[in-house]
Amino acid sequence: MRYYDKLVFELGKSGRVAFSLPEAKTGAVIPAELRRSSSPALPELSEVDVVRHYTNLSQMNFGVDTGFYPLGSCTMKYNPKINEEIASMPQWQGIHPLQPDSTVKGVREVYGKMERCLSAITGMARFTFLPCAGAHGELTGLMLMRAYHESRGDSARIKVIVPDSAHGTNPASAAVCGLQIVVVKSRPDGRVDVDDLKPLLGPDVAGIMMTNPNTLGLFERDIKQIAQLVHDCGGLLYYDGANMNPLVGVVRPGDMGFDIMHLNLHKTFSTPHGGGGPGSGPVGVCEKLADLLPSARTSAYNGNFSVILKAYAYILMLGRENVRMAGRLATLNANYIKESLKDVFKLPVEGVCKHEFVFDGLIDDGSSTGQNGATTLDVAKRLLDFGFHAPTIYFPMLFHQSLMIEPTETESKETLDSFIEVMHKIAMEAKNDPSILHNAPHNAPVGRPDETLAARQPVLKFTV
Ligand SMILES: *Cc1c(COP(=O)(O)O)cnc(C)c1O
Repeated sequence: MRYYDKLVFELGKSGRVAFSLPEAKTGAVIPAELRRSSSPALPELSEVDVVRHYTNLSQMNFGVDTGFYPLGSCTMKYNPKINEEIASMPQWQGIHPLQPDSTVKGVREVYGKMERCLSAITGMARFTFLPCAGAHGELTGLMLMRAYHESRGDSARIKVIVPDSAHGTNPASAAVCGLQIVVVKSRPDGRVDVDDLKPLLGPDVAGIMMTNPNTLGLFERDIKQIAQLVHDCGGLLYYDGANMNPLVGVVRPGDMGFDIMHLNLHKTFSTPHGGGGPGSGPVGVCEKLADLLPSARTSAYNGNFSVILKAYAYILMLGRENVRMAGRLATLNANYIKESLKDVFKLPVEGVCKHEFVFDGLIDDGSSTGQNGATTLDVAKRLLDFGFHAPTIYFPMLFHQSLMIEPTETESKETLDSFIEVMHKIAMEAKNDPSILHNAPHNAPVGRPDETLAARQPVLKFTV
């Protein structure tokens, strides 16, 4: 029997106990009307069975502490444990948001110093730490963009330009903010097409939202020219900082010409992304927008302080000299994988990437579903059999078979080499015996659930 074949309810035997409480000698008697009429349906197991059950369950989950996790667009994966330790110290955990200011001076100091760190890293004048996620930061930033135009009596600016490669939250945030979305196309080299941008600019444009490096992991080389064009038409530039990792300590969005930005502390500064939070999406603005910040109150109290604290500890730990190494190593690792696999995976845009890149499925014989019908989903599922987490799949939507790989800086060359070897092996299987891929994974507790049904109608509890 495999350990995951049975539920805890099926493992026990009536009357078996792990721990017995002493008989109550004295004390309050629970009133009859509050007592159960029958015993609760709890599993009855011995202590060792309970321990084994939960230990086995914990091992069914794939985590960054158990294996390589090349999920694209999520950056922080292995987070130095010391930052968690610092954030869980009782001195921080025990505070209350309504405590008098004089009793939380240390917290104020962290916010102040963190603002100075982020300003130094990004070239922005001021930051607010209220937003609790990247998308929340985008909405806050776009509200600031609107407020800026309105403060100057310019109410005609109702459009925001978004590249076709943008993360889905960009147009979504603009729509929630009541702005109209205009899409600017990418060139075949994956960067914003400046010639397509020019005719879109005019007195109705509030600004442009961009991420740099963009969703394909490519640096937008024309950013200075784009900034000039947008500013000349009276618009502002919003920087989606979710991809800031390779640029930290190297270049600053403020110097590229951006006026407003958010950072995903939970992607770039030591909090894992995913799993539903907590996150932190601080928003920075340039000098001319600084006065608008205090009025933008977008969450309860002061944002997610423990995430901010971890980010602060992480930045201090690396220091001014070393903070840039993380991005440089992440960039090196991504390019190493890309170059080692482009003989078997389709690389839509050649050239140097930053911290991540996108393949468009296996190199195929001209059909859209890849070699011998092996899809990106097949590759992702097969990777699980070899003990690797899958990369991000089918995002970005610029390609049909997107496979987005982001190794990060913490992985050794040996780990990258074994991933590369396995990817080559999978490509061989696709050629010689694609049914292995179609039926993968072969060793995981769950194979191929109906993902739509699993998301829409999840069955999360045991029913007899
Ligand atoms: C993750 C991401 C976002 C959204 O951040 P959340 O914290 O998930 O809301 C926005 N833009 C890009 C490029 C991202 O990768």
